[in-house]
Amino acid sequence: MRRFFLGQFLALLTSLATLAVHLLLGPLFSHSVYLFCLPALALCAALGGFPSAMSAAVILAAGGFIADGSADIPAAERTGRVLLFLLYGVAVAFAGGWLQRTLGAWRLRLAGLEEREAILRAGLDAVPDAGIVIDEDGVVVAFSHAAQLLFGWPAAEICGLGVETLMPPAHAQAHERYVHRYVQTGERRVMGSSRQVAGLRRDGTEFPMELRIGEVRIGSRRYFTGVVRDLSTMREAERRSDELHAQLTQIWSLNSMGEMASVLAHELNQPLSSVANYLRAARTLIANLELEEDDLLDAVSRASDQAIRAGEIIRTMRDLATRGGAEQKPESLSAILAEIEFIVGLMVRDAGARVLYDLYQGPDIVLADRIQIQQLVVNLVRNAIDAVAKFPDREIKISTRADADDKLVTIVEDSGPGVDSAVMGRVFQPLASTKPTGMGLGLSICRAIVENHGGRIWVQPSPLGGAAFCFVLARTGVNGDDASGRTDRLRRR
Ligand code: ADP
Repeated sequence: MRRFFLGQFLALLTSLATLAVHLLLGPLFSHSVYLFCLPALALCAALGGFPSAMSAAVILAAGGFIADGSADIPAAERTGRVLLFLLYGVAVAFAGGWLQRTLGAWRLRLAGLEEREAILRAGLDAVPDAGIVIDEDGVVVAFSHAAQLLFGWPAAEICGLGVETLMPPAHAQAHERYVHRYVQTGERRVMGSSRQVAGLRRDGTEFPMELRIGEVRIGSRRYFTGVVRDLSTMREAERRSDELHAQLTQIWSLNSMGEMASVLAHELNQPLSSVANYLRAARTLIANLELEEDDLLDAVSRASDQAIRAGEIIRTMRDLATRGGAEQKPESLSAILAEIEFIVGLMVRDAGARVLYDLYQGPDIVLADRIQIQQLVVNLVRNAIDAVAKFPDREIKISTRADADDKLVTIVEDSGPGVDSAVMGRVFQPLASTKPTGMGLGLSICRAIVENHGGRIWVQPSPLGGAAFCFVLARTGVNGDDASGRTDRLRRR
């Protein structure tokens, strides 16, 4: 509506200006007033469209008719002129209207194109992978935000340069051959598939990347789109995962110790049942007092031999599991715990439990065999998980604190039932177990590990309701590893 009134205002203004100019300059021209008005009419049509041109035509026709009257032109000719001018006016108004509509449509189309480009660009920029568009000659025409971050080139600088700028020379040549062959033969070697190649950053460093190439045709022009995924972080993650896997295998060796234990249980069965048999025989001998003293001594000493053998089997296992603590060095206790946070998290989550950390904030360097301490904590956590399994509220807490002697105490506690009175007092001894399939070796190995470190392990009631297994390690003043910042994350909890 505003546009319409603006058009009308323009028509009125142009007409009045034209008529005024004609009144002033008209006598200088021998031509009809209408000829003078034609450009004004065309102007109104071009700028204001149909309504503006029609209004101007009517005003100018009236002005022309009056001007012709004052020039003593005969009435019939005056009427003919004004009608002809009006006819011309209608034609120009239609032409103006058409021009306006066409222009409007083009403007809309242009705005639509700009909007679509903005949306596409925003979409391209939102994708975490780097997006690059090149033309048939290999010239970069679009470069997404992620691509700018990955390659270190601002879009404004790379657009217009050849795509080989983004590849090490050897790859650039191969790429050029691929694209050339595809353009020539249409043979799809790389189109649509993904390949692992090397990328070249602006600073000259190379990195592994995965490249997927697509094709877009716009009219007769052909463009190629490249989606690039940086594989360096993935490779790093793979390397870290392999490392972690190796570590886990070691940590879980307690588990395999468990498996070994069941094999050895078979071995232990034999000396233990011999012990039982010899003792039973000794008892019978004592009861009947039929045989000579030598027989009795023989039975008892055989029983004792077998018991010693059983003990040796267990000791060998323990030694195997604890490796004598040969690799003790200064380590941050929280860093040791941070490294097994992931595996502890997995175990606890699988059991539907929750783990809380409350770690000592001060210096926490201890002289330790990292893997052994991790085995120890994982074992205590596994026992805690077993303990809370039958309870709806499954809470496990891992904490460290400095004790009165300035040593570091690590506590693994749970909301389970606490230690069964049947094994209380001997939980750290081999074969003390209340579990149907338990070997009763875990805690005795834990004790051996702690003692290897010159520490002490004990159990006490936990404020969470269950058992709190505590072990103490001496601090050293030497700096240890910090496990690349993970320590602080775990400590802040
Ligand atoms: P196992 O787990 O094979 O029984 P362990 O030496 O690890 O061997 O544990 C010995 C026993 O100590 C267990 O059978 C259990 O009765 C008790 N125990 C260990 N940890 C806990 C705990 N967190 N809560 C209650 N009892 C526990």
